[in-house]
Amino acid sequence: MSKRDFYEILGVTKSADEKTLKVAYRKLAMEYHPDRNPGDDAAEAKFKEVGEAYAILSDADKRAAYDRMGHAAFEQGGNGGYGGQGPFGAGGAAEFADIFEQVFGDAFGRGGGRRGGSHTGAARGNDLRFDLEVSLEDAFTGKETTITVPTAMNCERCDGQGNEPGTELETCPTCHGAGRIRRSQGLFTMEQTCPQCGGRGQYVKTPCQDCDGVGRVRKNRTLTVNIPAGVEDGTRIRLAGEGEAGARGGPRGDLYLFLSAKPHELFERDGPNLYCRTPASMVSAALGATIEVPTIDGGKAELKIPAGAQTGRRMRLRGKGMPRLRGGPRGDMVIELFVETPRNLCDRQKELLKEFCSLSGEGCNPDSDGFFHKVKQFWNDVTTDDGRPNA
Ligand SMILES: [Zn+2]
Ligand SMILES: [Zn+2]
Repeated sequence: MSKRDFYEILGVTKSADEKTLKVAYRKLAMEYHPDRNPGDDAAEAKFKEVGEAYAILSDADKRAAYDRMGHAAFEQGGNGGYGGQGPFGAGGAAEFADIFEQVFGDAFGRGGGRRGGSHTGAARGNDLRFDLEVSLEDAFTGKETTITVPTAMNCERCDGQGNEPGTELETCPTCHGAGRIRRSQGLFTMEQTCPQCGGRGQYVKTPCQDCDGVGRVRKNRTLTVNIPAGVEDGTRIRLAGEGEAGARGGPRGDLYLFLSAKPHELFERDGPNLYCRTPASMVSAALGATIEVPTIDGGKAELKIPAGAQTGRRMRLRGKGMPRLRGGPRGDMVIELFVETPRNLCDRQKELLKEFCSLSGEGCNPDSDGFFHKVKQFWNDVTTDDGRPNA
């Protein structure tokens, strides 16, 4: 899915200044606003598109990132891009709605409720991503483990307020403490976040010595996390409220654990099922045998090799696979057989094999007709214990 160029969406040139952008956005947003186009999905999609384009281009940092890298700068999970909204760009929809409010204020008489929180400048902390490699054994049993995450924590010296202890916060002279300012412009009353205090209503006159007035400090945080049994490569675990501290006592972001599976020397995993290969001697395969195979729980299981089993035969041990993250029966363990050709035979063994050959009546070197017949017969015999032929 290729996205349209943000400048193209707004119908402006790459060198457009802030004002041109805003005018272009206002015009398009009015045209496609859902209140004016009830039930029109195409208009709503356009409305979102222009909102997204304006949200990026009206922010100097994001615009610079976009000019440099294009849409790749904001793609999901992109570590290299701008990190403002956590691993999923989760802020997306809400952010674009805010943009509309910032530009239009109360023009459409909406957005009363959710503004309450953002007035105060108590912004939520960023989400964090932490990558963790998990062994197959740990994924089987589940595990409690300790991780150390570099993060932003509330500054203890000023308790996140930013002012040096003993000094007071000053009321913002621009908005007189309201955090937002209103401006009349033609038909509309525009309301916007106060540029002086960033919506906080107060400003720091004497910054805290530890955090320079930011209210947060960077630290390594150690925490214990529980990895449940059954996790897989690509499983994400959300730890609510374990992300970065919010500004000025705002709520904390979330921490996302991204799990990857460490390769295992014996088993390959596909969902709840485990696959492995096991060798069997030529004699065991010919006569049938019961062998012991190791299982993921650290124990052993008995595996019956039927007489006449060929290389490539698959056998299934039900319930010997992995547990499922959301409960339910354990997966299976599927074992593929490899018949070992004996090596380093002594004279006596060679003699016996030659005798075996003469008894089977075919001789050891069949002619070409016999060869093709044998090949066909061989692959007919190789089936799984489900009765399905092997691929
Ligand atoms: Zn501080
Ligand atoms: Zn202010």
